[in-house]
Amino acid sequence: MNQLTSSGYNIYFDNTLSSLENFLAENSYSKVFIITDENTGKYCLPVLQNKLPNLDNYDIIEIPYGEENKNIDFCIGIWKMLLDFEADRNALVINLGGGVVTDMGSFAASTYKRGIDFLQIPTTLLSQVDASVGGKTGIDIDSVKNIIGTFAQPKAVIICDEFIETLPENQLISGFAEVIKHGIIADNVYYNEVVKLASPKEITIAQIKRSVEIKNEVVLEDPFEKGLRKILNFGHTIGHAIESWSLENDSKSLTHGEAIAIGMITEAYIANKTGMLSVEELNIIKNDILKFFPKYSLKSDIYDVLLEIMQHDKKNISGKINFSLPDKIGNCKFNIVVSHDLIKESLDYYRNI
Ligand code: NAD
Repeated sequence: MNQLTSSGYNIYFDNTLSSLENFLAENSYSKVFIITDENTGKYCLPVLQNKLPNLDNYDIIEIPYGEENKNIDFCIGIWKMLLDFEADRNALVINLGGGVVTDMGSFAASTYKRGIDFLQIPTTLLSQVDASVGGKTGIDIDSVKNIIGTFAQPKAVIICDEFIETLPENQLISGFAEVIKHGIIADNVYYNEVVKLASPKEITIAQIKRSVEIKNEVVLEDPFEKGLRKILNFGHTIGHAIESWSLENDSKSLTHGEAIAIGMITEAYIANKTGMLSVEELNIIKNDILKFFPKYSLKSDIYDVLLEIMQHDKKNISGKINFSLPDKIGNCKFNIVVSHDLIKESLDYYRNI
């Protein structure tokens, strides 16, 4: 079977979902709970039921969709459902959804009765290539993302690319930003392959697997983000700040990937200005990203607010804004402190593209 090994569990690339059937046959769980959101309950649960018609004896816990619901109130809702349905320590949670379901469902499972087993079945491109692998679980407090959470490993991750067929296009493109990022930080050949696609819709299961493999290799080497894992943050220092600003201020806010796309262009500019990345590769990155992510109209009067948000990023040490920057397409360095002036210059660069 097509699979990767992570820390103590397997990641299956399996359109038949037979890996789920085998897993359940090999382990005798007292009860099985499937957590979905409204959309994955509607689009993905029937696919799962169709592929595994003999799967029975499970309870569904459905949460409303959206990041604003990845919070303690809905988490308490999940814990209460587990309690009401008498989940004991030998129960299993299956998270069937995007990053909101996989993050919150795994947080709820990893804390309920001091931790019960859980499986990830990610249904968005973003959760397949990023959120479901690496052991980070979490919920938000107000607009502070992932501020409460645990490191906890699933019993397995099962990736079936059929699920992403029902994904709205903006969500597919959002996940594609992480695919491009994996190429930039770790694999030049993979980068060239994915940026040549006419659309993210053309992504293949082999390409999804390569992305997961890159993330998996990094997190296996540095599970608790003491060093190397920080390279996964390329594009995210500026990108997260723009995402937070947009969530609060834009009538149609940017998706995570759209914000990270801006972050990758501006941070590639910083990499060039600090003498790390050639101007040729900066131009390649900029042009390739703009092919998939139309330019966003960034206003110069928000620079100070963006810097303020970056200053509070939980990844900073001693209040200094830390970056992970590529020195070529396919390699990335981390723990690079950058001045406020250069950050502002990179935002100007984006505005004047
Ligand atoms: P999401 O879970 O909100 O899903 C996006 C939208 O797509 C939702 O409306 C959802 O209902 C819908 N959806 C999901 N699957 C679908 C399908 N197959 N068909 C139709 N609609 C579907 O968001 P996301 O982009 O998957 O994940 C974002 C979250 O992931 C954030 O909370 C972020 O913090 C987290 N994340 C975590 C990690 C990690 O390492 N733990 C890494 C990256 C991101």
